[in-house]
Amino acid sequence: MSRTDRVIYMDNNATTRVAPEVFEEMKPYFCDLYGNPSSMHTFGGQVGKKVTGARDKIAASLNCAPVEIVFTSCGTESDNFAVKGIFEAHPDKRHFITTRVEHPAVYNLGRWFEHQGYDVTYLSVDNEGMLDLDELRSAIRPDTGLVSIMWANNETGTIFPIPRIARIVKGAGCLLHVDAVQAIGKIPIDLRKVPIDLLALSGHKVHAPKGIGLLYVRKGTKIRSQMIGGHQERGRRGGTENTPYIIGFGKACELAMENMGDEVSKVKALRDKLEHFILNKIPMTRLNGHPIERLPNTLSVSFEYIEGEAILLDLDRLGICASSGSACTSGSLEPSHVLRAMGVPFTCAHGSIRFSLSRYNTEEDVDYVIEHLPEVINRLREMSPFAPKV
Ligand code: PLP
Repeated sequence: MSRTDRVIYMDNNATTRVAPEVFEEMKPYFCDLYGNPSSMHTFGGQVGKKVTGARDKIAASLNCAPVEIVFTSCGTESDNFAVKGIFEAHPDKRHFITTRVEHPAVYNLGRWFEHQGYDVTYLSVDNEGMLDLDELRSAIRPDTGLVSIMWANNETGTIFPIPRIARIVKGAGCLLHVDAVQAIGKIPIDLRKVPIDLLALSGHKVHAPKGIGLLYVRKGTKIRSQMIGGHQERGRRGGTENTPYIIGFGKACELAMENMGDEVSKVKALRDKLEHFILNKIPMTRLNGHPIERLPNTLSVSFEYIEGEAILLDLDRLGICASSGSACTSGSLEPSHVLRAMGVPFTCAHGSIRFSLSRYNTEEDVDYVIEHLPEVINRLREMSPFAPKV
């Protein structure tokens, strides 16, 4: 199979294309309007005003106050800031609650906290990737400093019931951090309605560039800065602001808000077409994640008896970009911690592929995958010593 120049990009949970409108908005702030937003002169001040405008747009899209937003470099930094910043500000608290399916930005922080002598509870999920809220209720203790639960899972798209979770956590008098990196632009986030204390976002999942993120910190929350420096971000994160990227992030959030309804239904219809085809027309396939409570763009599916990496390589030759639910560590293909936590059977976990769509996908993209995927799967199954011969 020779490689095609065509690109069918279905890996939007990994990263998204920068929207042309976002790029246009950013452009003047590199070579022309490059002033420092903190400068006293008008040249810098006009950039400061634009940054304020971006902060206002993002605050409007989240329904929070602009001062509650702290810009960071990425989702990972935002998660680290939230969790480390809260425990450092509350030294009497030694217990951290999170889940077994968090992104490494939180999951590996849990491991790090264990090494520092903290108690960490990892909440389990069922085979559809859903949490047991009674387990959460009974895990909260007087010394619990923070509960950190993602809004939507990056691998399976499963959406956790954050409004209910927030009521439980706040009802128990505890702080809640939500990793909403995959939720932004896909499900509505209203921080006036949902009593979340901290919320992490990342620009590159919503058609802004890589290298910009934010942490929402509810007014009055005691948190220790993780970047000691100047007065920027009200002393919560030192360092000269990444002005073009903040401006781009503002535009991306504005676009996401304006288009959310139409975009979600368009993307969901495309995702559903692909899902329906795979589950009904390709034998020995299985959906990973919740059938209903799932991001509209995400489809994680297992093809039994074959390796995800082999499927990805064949798809790559066809110009189809997707990702797999296993990681090649020390020469062995280990299913991801998310699939393991869900108890996905061994024969399925290795052959899992995630397709994640965006506003830029078309019906032709889906039809192209539908046309070529069966031959890829058949060929690999014929070569597999484990696949039953049909
Ligand atoms: N949290 C979730 C759920 C993610 O999906 C990601 C990235 O994939 C991150 C955090 C980390 O974001 P970033 O790549 O901006 O550091």
